[in-house]
Amino acid sequence: MLIMKKNTNHTDLGVGKVAAQPGTQTDGHLKVGTMPDGTAVRLPIVLINGKHPGKVLYLQAISDGDELNGIAVVHKIIQTITPEQLHGKIIAVPIVNFHAFHAKQAFNPVDNRKMNRCFPGRRDGTSSERIAYHLFQQAVQQADYCIDLHQGGVQPMIDEVRVRVDEKHTLHGACLELARVFGIGYILDQKGPKGQLAQAAPEIGIPTIDPELGGTHGWDAASIEKGVRGVLNVLQYYNFIAGTPEIPEQQTVVKKFVPILSNEGGFIYYRAELYEQLTAAQPVADICDVFGTVQETITSPVDGIFWSKSIYPMVASGGTIGKIGTPIGYL
Ligand SMILES: [Zn+2]
Repeated sequence: MLIMKKNTNHTDLGVGKVAAQPGTQTDGHLKVGTMPDGTAVRLPIVLINGKHPGKVLYLQAISDGDELNGIAVVHKIIQTITPEQLHGKIIAVPIVNFHAFHAKQAFNPVDNRKMNRCFPGRRDGTSSERIAYHLFQQAVQQADYCIDLHQGGVQPMIDEVRVRVDEKHTLHGACLELARVFGIGYILDQKGPKGQLAQAAPEIGIPTIDPELGGTHGWDAASIEKGVRGVLNVLQYYNFIAGTPEIPEQQTVVKKFVPILSNEGGFIYYRAELYEQLTAAQPVADICDVFGTVQETITSPVDGIFWSKSIYPMVASGGTIGKIGTPIGYL
């Protein structure tokens, strides 16, 4: 395990060559590689160094290149929070997956990797691993709390927050508390795949969450608003700024997803809505053939929350028409 040097003193804040003295806000770029023509690959960095001492929040967006809601959340936060009001420091990275973002796709086209399987990165690794390495070394490690803004890709999904460390992890409680404070109402508490930032950062002692702000092409105003509220909740609850967080009294927690499969190929006419609490064997959708005749009614395989559905109205036999979050617990 790395030895952490926390930037909790009332000092300058720096990421690469970007630096902000106490009481100031600045932006700039961190070089993380080179394009074929020699142009620098640079990530945008925003630093808000509070007038008052306190902790460090790291906030990033667009780890998956087509998950764009997070950048609007970052914009709103960095345009709203002033150094005068801030106790502590904010490091914000509006775009993490440079190559994937420019290609308008989830994966980095240089190495065909998912960035959120590459943390904490490798100095001598593939393109995504190198970007993850520079970010982790120069920015993430300074944090006391870490928020990695995602969404359910471009597939319709509820707004939720994920905790990605195992229940036995020493930081599980702190991560779950951060998820509760974000306050979006729905939490997936399930150990994630290796290489997620929400696993790599807790490994060095930083509570981390992975909010999933709906699922859409482009921007979704309602999900963005929930994301902004979530970050403000975190800033208020952990005493970065004054104010009272708006945290729901009760939030739903699930441990896993169960896919809803279609037996027939055809067209999906949903009978259930996202967020709906379903019981096992409750109808979720009718599948019609190409002539519009109902061929079968798909039912929920388990009790749970209707968590995500298909972006396209058609499905082949054995295809997934959605996912159920289960079993339902409360926090
Ligand atoms: Zn994602």
